[in-house]
Amino acid sequence: MANPIYTYAFPTTIHFGAAARQRLPAVIAELGMRRPLIVSDRDIANLPWFADVVQLVNTPTMPYTGVGGNPVLSQVEAGRAAFREQEADGIVAVGGGAPMDVAKAIALMAHHPGHLFDYEDGRADARPVNQPVPPIVAVPTTAGTGSEVGRSAVISDDATHAKKIVFAPQLLPQTVLADPELLLGLPAKVTAATGMDALTHLVEAFLANGYQPLCDGIALEGLRLVAEHLTDCVTFARRLQAGDALSEAESVAHLAARGGMLNASMMGAIAFQKGLGVTHSCAHALSTVCDTHHGLANAIMLPAAMRFNLAAAPAKFLRLAQTIQPAATSGQDFLDWILALRHAIGIPETLTALGVSTATTDQLVGVALQDICHQLNPRPVTPTDFYALYQEAFAA
Ligand SMILES: [Zn+2]
Repeated sequence: MANPIYTYAFPTTIHFGAAARQRLPAVIAELGMRRPLIVSDRDIANLPWFADVVQLVNTPTMPYTGVGGNPVLSQVEAGRAAFREQEADGIVAVGGGAPMDVAKAIALMAHHPGHLFDYEDGRADARPVNQPVPPIVAVPTTAGTGSEVGRSAVISDDATHAKKIVFAPQLLPQTVLADPELLLGLPAKVTAATGMDALTHLVEAFLANGYQPLCDGIALEGLRLVAEHLTDCVTFARRLQAGDALSEAESVAHLAARGGMLNASMMGAIAFQKGLGVTHSCAHALSTVCDTHHGLANAIMLPAAMRFNLAAAPAKFLRLAQTIQPAATSGQDFLDWILALRHAIGIPETLTALGVSTATTDQLVGVALQDICHQLNPRPVTPTDFYALYQEAFAA
C-alpha cells in the first residue's frame, strides 16, 4: 500500500495586537474593496467602539447588523439582499462566531445561484462553489469559535434548528485583524462559555485520530494559553461588571489575557482542521434540539466526554496534563484540571442546571449519532455510550 499523503494549510494573514483595528483602511485598500459591507450583530452595533470601526471601514454601504443568537438561514438571506442591493464588493465581518459564519455564508451567496443549503457540505447533489466569492476581512470580538481562521460556516434552519455546514476554501477570510481591545468589555459569562469552546477545540483536535503534527503542536500551545489566561479574563470581566476600576497594571494584565485567549481561539480553529470528537457531537445535538449556546454545551459535556476517552488514549492525556503542569504523572490530572477550571469560571455543572429536560435524551442521542464529529473520536461511540454521556451530564 502506498504511504498516505496528508494535507496541511495555514494561509490566513493575521494582524494581532492592541488597536490592530486601525489597520482596517490599509487592509481594505490592499484587497481592492471600494464598497465593503459590514456584517455584525445587534448587540455589537450598540457597543461604544462600533462607530469607530464603521468610521475606519469608511464605506458608502449601510452595515448589516441583523445577526442575533445562533446563526440561521433568514439572517443570511437578509444579509445577501443587503449585499446585492447596496452593490457591495467585499465583507468586513465584526463579531463572534455567529456574525462571522453569517458573513461567510453571505459571501458565498453573493454571486452563487439558488439556496444556501444547496451548497451543504457532504451532500451528494451539492451545487459547486464555482462563482466569485467576495473577499472577507474578519474582526473577531470573542475568543471561542475561531471562525475567523476557518473555511466553513454553520447555519441553522430557522424552523427545525437543524445545523447545516457549508465548507469551501473560498470562505476563508483573507485577513484577520485580531484586536484584544475589542474584547475588554465582554461579560464574564460570555467570556467563560466561548473560552470553553476554544478549549474544547484544542483538546478534541489533539485527541482526534489522524496524523497532523502541525495541528497537534498548535493545539498544545493553544491549551497552554487557555490555562494561562482564561481564568484571568473571567476574573477581570467580573470585576468590571461589579463596577471595580482596574489599576493600570491590572488593565495591562487584562489586555494580555484577552490577547492570549484570542490567539488560543484561532489556534483551536486551525488545529481542528484535523477533526473534533464526541464532545462536539453531543454539543451540536444540544444546540439543534434545545437551542443551547454552543460553548456552554461543550463546557457541560467536556468532563464526561473526556472521562469516556481517557482509557483509549492514555499517552495523549498525559501530554495534555503535562502541558498544564509539567510535573503531572497521569492523564487523570488533566480531567481534574478541567473540572477545577470550569468551576473557577462559573460554568453551570449539569444540563439540568441549564434547563435541559431529560425527556429530550432520545432525541439528543439520535442527532448526536448523525453528527460527523465523533467519527474521529479516539474511542468509537455507540448509541449506548451517547445515552451514558448525556445521563452523566444531566446528573454530574
Ligand atoms: Zn466548537
